Amino acid sequence: MLKKLIITTLSQFENENFSGNFPLDYCLPVYHNVSNEHLPHLKHIINYKNEKEFEADLDCLSKHFQWVTFDEFKDYVKGNFKPKKKIALLTFDDGYREFYDVVIPILKRKGIYAMNFINPAFTDNKDLMFRCKVSLLKDKFQQIHYEDKFLLKLKYQDTKTINDLAMQFEVDFEDYLKEKRPYLSSDELYQIRNKGFGISSHGWNHPLYHDLPLSEQLENTFQGYSYMKENGFHYESFAFPFTDFGVEKVFFDTLFKNEDFFCTFGSAGVKTDSVAHNFQRIPMETGENARMILKKEISYFRFKKHLNKNHIQRK
Ligand SMILES: [Zn+2]
Repeated sequence: MLKKLIITTLSQFENENFSGNFPLDYCLPVYHNVSNEHLPHLKHIINYKNEKEFEADLDCLSKHFQWVTFDEFKDYVKGNFKPKKKIALLTFDDGYREFYDVVIPILKRKGIYAMNFINPAFTDNKDLMFRCKVSLLKDKFQQIHYEDKFLLKLKYQDTKTINDLAMQFEVDFEDYLKEKRPYLSSDELYQIRNKGFGISSHGWNHPLYHDLPLSEQLENTFQGYSYMKENGFHYESFAFPFTDFGVEKVFFDTLFKNEDFFCTFGSAGVKTDSVAHNFQRIPMETGENARMILKKEISYFRFKKHLNKNHIQRK
């Protein structure tokens, strides 16, 4: 791929003055999970890091940025918080259990705040996101040496196919949820909040937004919002599941009519957005360390500057 080649080539000339070279005043890394274990529901869809790799990322980011809490981030956006350095807000998506078991102990030791954007539909292991089901099937297929090319392409709308395959290959999602408890429980969510970390909304059940009509995009978002409000979590923000690519201006206009909403988050890397309070985050699970990811993001941003392609214009 040409894009990949350009980024790899340019990043080789990038120095490590990240705080100086980073093109925005804020850095928003996004992770899904951290684990030393083989997690069959994630292994084939997310390149999650182990504890050592995650800690190395944090140490790299700590050198160049000042970590902030979500409240400080909001104050910074409002102009009420003047940081000494460029700031970084650590975020996680999907509400996996290891956030409590693995991530928080590391963050407490290092004194770093993070927030997790969760789907209420999966809290307490009531259900499994369709991509995780696909990952479980893929894991089973590998065990029995069954080749399959279309599995990872299945969509939310293919739920029936996914369930049929599970039946056929004797993969029991219910059992998996009960035994492995991949998601955080409501009790853990309250404990996380009480420890001073943030919980906010990732929509109700993780659909791909640009596949949905506007009314369903809004419904999914407001269902998540109501849950956050009822349970005392951060209802003023929302992070798009998968991507905000193709989400139109009218969605944001309608959302922000509700004055409870302060901001939304995408994960398109280092970019600005025509919706001023839609902030793009940097995906950290690319298979590379933070140092390399930052180098690539910085050099690619500089390259695209000449093409005016660092700004997302919504119609
Ligand atoms: Zn997600």
